[in-house]
Amino acid sequence: MSNENKSIHEFDFNLICEYFSSVERQGPGSPEVTLKALDFIENLSVQSRIADLGCGTGTQTITLARHTPGQIVGLDLFPNFISIFEQNIQKLDLQDRVKGIVGSMDNLPFGKEEFDLIWSEGAIYNIGFQHGLHTWREYLRKGGYVAVSEVSWFTNKRPAEINDFWLDAYPEIDTIPNKVAQMQKAGYIPVASFILPENCWTEHFYAPQVEIQDNFLKKYAGNKVAEDFIANQRHETQLYYKYKEFYGYVFYIGKKI
Ligand code: SAM
Repeated sequence: MSNENKSIHEFDFNLICEYFSSVERQGPGSPEVTLKALDFIENLSVQSRIADLGCGTGTQTITLARHTPGQIVGLDLFPNFISIFEQNIQKLDLQDRVKGIVGSMDNLPFGKEEFDLIWSEGAIYNIGFQHGLHTWREYLRKGGYVAVSEVSWFTNKRPAEINDFWLDAYPEIDTIPNKVAQMQKAGYIPVASFILPENCWTEHFYAPQVEIQDNFLKKYAGNKVAEDFIANQRHETQLYYKYKEFYGYVFYIGKKI
């Protein structure tokens, strides 16, 4: 890789981080949906250990912390997100029960069978749904739960434009029954799956980005990388509004056998 390319990549990384640091959520979701998924998890106690993988700045981790006993560790690859996560946790005086660490979900710095619950909203796609479920299983005790949200097809067929967009962005996108079967194959009892309501995208994810995008374009006026990045974000948003009957996020909850 040439130095020129390297600097572009570094800028991309910093740019994406800066952009998503200024919004509350880095993916679709809502406190109501976090609590709905949490309703399926049994037997949590003050001794329980919970991991939130790909936690971002931790909005859903805080919801989890407020509604569960036990210790929670949030893990994310981006140090900036973990800094904001730590600030949020301290503001709410949750630091005795919740901590954030920088790390990769593909190489977890934890012990085998350490957790009662592994949570991950809109993040398992980074290492793939099947690989993630398979890899994370060894960190769960027997009878422990995994709860992840993941983009999924609602129908067996869909228009070529949205089919091609998602197959390019995330080739592992699949229908809900296929995802449930993959969860079972990875060694979990599929306890529940449910579709996230549209407001998880529109109100909680896309709406807060509108102002951020305008500010970004002003700040990075004339910068092609920044302009392309915002154009991509806007394109993805438009596709969602056009094709939301065909795909969305789905929560999958499984219990380790
Ligand atoms: N869970 C948060 C939410 O719902 O708002 C964030 C979701 S965001 C779409 C995906 C997150 O995964 C980002 O915070 C990103 O930094 C993180 N991530 C990407 N690759 C990762 C990896 N290999 N290990 C840990 N986190 C990763």
